[in-house]
Amino acid sequence: MQNTEINKAIPWNPWHGCKKASPGCKNCFVYKMDRRYGRDTSIITKGKTTYELKDKDCPPGSLVKLCFSSDFFIEEADEWRGGCWDFIRRRRDCIFVTTTKRPERIKDCVPPDWGDGWEHVHISISIENQEMADQRLKAFLAAPVKHREVFCSPLIAPISLGKYLDTGLIKCVNVGGEMSPKNEVRPILYEWVRDLFLEAKERNIEFYFHQCGSMFMKDGVNIGKWNLNDQIKRAEEIQHELEELYGETPKSDHKLHC
Ligand code: SF4
Repeated sequence: MQNTEINKAIPWNPWHGCKKASPGCKNCFVYKMDRRYGRDTSIITKGKTTYELKDKDCPPGSLVKLCFSSDFFIEEADEWRGGCWDFIRRRRDCIFVTTTKRPERIKDCVPPDWGDGWEHVHISISIENQEMADQRLKAFLAAPVKHREVFCSPLIAPISLGKYLDTGLIKCVNVGGEMSPKNEVRPILYEWVRDLFLEAKERNIEFYFHQCGSMFMKDGVNIGKWNLNDQIKRAEEIQHELEELYGETPKSDHKLHC
């Protein structure tokens, strides 16, 4: 299926809950959401009503966003994942996307007929600093995945991806800031975003600055935003500014993971 055929984005959360894996998880939105309802996010539970995605709720051409309130490759879900693969295998008329912080588990979690990946499944990893980039990208690039993207989000330190982008195995670089209350938020610097943009641009790889977060520092001033829509708008302005200065990166018709 080509990106141009995508007609609807559908969330699918077959299980809920996650264990914090690295500094990027510090202000995880799932934990924040659950805190409001007194729910313990570290207990991973199979969705009573959400585990199964029904065909009638997933028309042909759907973009299915998988596991936004957990991690699809988390160990605690090993016995449940097979049922999801069965649905995904059958529905090659849709695109399935998921983002993980556990790429080292991918090879042991895919079904026997996976080969080097299914054409309609896109997997991205999320990284927040150079240490996590080096650790996760090594595992991610060795894993059998057909379409790979990288999310530097929340970006909390400078990252260089050059040698990983040189493999030609990464389709897209996405960057985002942290959305958190004032006393917890960690800053993202304009220079970090610009340098990742340039690394992607040099290699003709897609780049999206998808939201600027609550503390986006440019010329020593915080021009971040507290509201998500404003964060998205500000990030678009910055990307536009970078493209004016340095030229455009390639674009897909659809941003699959944002
Ligand atoms: S891996 Fe993702 S969902 Fe899990 S704790 Fe970290 S940020 Fe939250």
